[in-house]
Amino acid sequence: AATAPELTSTTRRPAATMHRSSTSAAIRSSESRPASSVSTRVPTLTTIRLAAEPAVAAVVVKTDDEWRRQLTPLQYQVLRQKGTERAFTGRYWDRREEGTYRCAGCGTALFSSTAKFDSGTGWPSFWQPIAEDAIASEPDDSLFARRIEVLCRRCGGHLGHVFDDGPPPTGLRY
Ligand code: FE
Repeated sequence: AATAPELTSTTRRPAATMHRSSTSAAIRSSESRPASSVSTRVPTLTTIRLAAEPAVAAVVVKTDDEWRRQLTPLQYQVLRQKGTERAFTGRYWDRREEGTYRCAGCGTALFSSTAKFDSGTGWPSFWQPIAEDAIASEPDDSLFARRIEVLCRRCGGHLGHVFDDGPPPTGLRY
């Protein structure tokens, strides 16, 4: 979903891990409801378990003022306040050049153009991160249904969410 990475390299590099093991990206229902209960919830994902992805390591730690000075207002709003840029307005949703998408907060390589796809959402979308330890994921219950927030593992910057409606081979949409 919404990301604020910097496309800083045009050098093609191989995707770090082309596929996950079947256990590292298991998608399952979060709860077992009685069969008789009628759910009025939107049938979106309930839990994506990304077992191999570690928690935020917070290697890069800065004060709020430091982040404000370093980032543009939009970058600050997205990365540090978990905001979302408006769809179809970002610099990268429709870019197709080969390259590496890096965190605007700390420069960590996050996604490769080789895993980018047109999701139709108006936000840059990827079916896998460039490396499993580049990102972290956390449950986010701030809206009607549980979503999985995706963060830069090194600086904790908000990158958006991951959904289970992505293309093969992972079926994920970051
Ligand atoms: Fe970062």
